[in-house]
Amino acid sequence: MTVTEQESTSAAPGEALVVLDNVNKWFGDLHVLQDIDVTINRGEVVVVIGPSGSGKSTLCRAINRLETIDKGSISLDGTPLPEEGKELAKLRAEVGMVFQSFNLFAHKTILENVTLGPMKVRKKDKAAAEKRAKELLDRVGIGHQAAKYPAQLSGGQQQRVAIARALAMDPKVMLFDEPTSALDPEMIKEVLDVMVDLAEQGMTMVVVTHEMGFARTAAHRVLFMADGAIVEENTPEEFFTNPQSDRAKDFLGKIL
Ligand code: ADP
Ligand code: MG
Repeated sequence: MTVTEQESTSAAPGEALVVLDNVNKWFGDLHVLQDIDVTINRGEVVVVIGPSGSGKSTLCRAINRLETIDKGSISLDGTPLPEEGKELAKLRAEVGMVFQSFNLFAHKTILENVTLGPMKVRKKDKAAAEKRAKELLDRVGIGHQAAKYPAQLSGGQQQRVAIARALAMDPKVMLFDEPTSALDPEMIKEVLDVMVDLAEQGMTMVVVTHEMGFARTAAHRVLFMADGAIVEENTPEEFFTNPQSDRAKDFLGKIL
């Protein structure tokens, strides 16, 4: 299945896909996630915004179980997140994650970076994995660089490979944790363009970013986090033009 075929009709959000119910987590005394109740619907694009240290990364990491939670529950497509083993590996495939640092395998080619997961976890044969990888690399504009190594690519190109690599697993949802924060300004747009395109294809996305242009163009909803809690939740238009809480007003005053 290509990305184009994937949920191509669901521009509008559908049924619940990721459900966080009363999620709480502590790091020692620090209550890093506080009573988080969020439902992310199929095809929905949710932008998470908030000051540094407010728990945005921890929230993302909890959704693909890079972090455990202490109270509450998280489910994907109606099933509680698995604890371990094969099921956990499958979950990591179904929840694609793109980090600020691109995390590509330095000693593997771009093509190998994208085929490795599908062959190992999804048990695809090499020919099928390569065919799909080439389609995805073409889609993110890196097709002609497939034989190169990560260090031969710019940051923006590497991040687009990281997106293709996550997509190669046919994820149900894509998480982006500040995907453009480490990039030089001229490379930010090429990555955001790929993300906008994905959003338009109906991919379910959770995106931690302060890129307002992306939020306005692609997001259905903005969650504003502060001190481990979701303080405000609104459409991008409402959130950016008419924030309700003092915390959000103060934060927007600093970044805009
Ligand atoms: P954000 O992504 O919004 O900047 P994080 O989720 O990374 O916030 O972190 C939230 C808080 O949890 C911060 O105070 C951070 O220092 C703390 N924190 C994050 N990871 C750990 C950890 N592994 N151990 C202890 N504290 C942590
Ligand atoms: Mg973070």
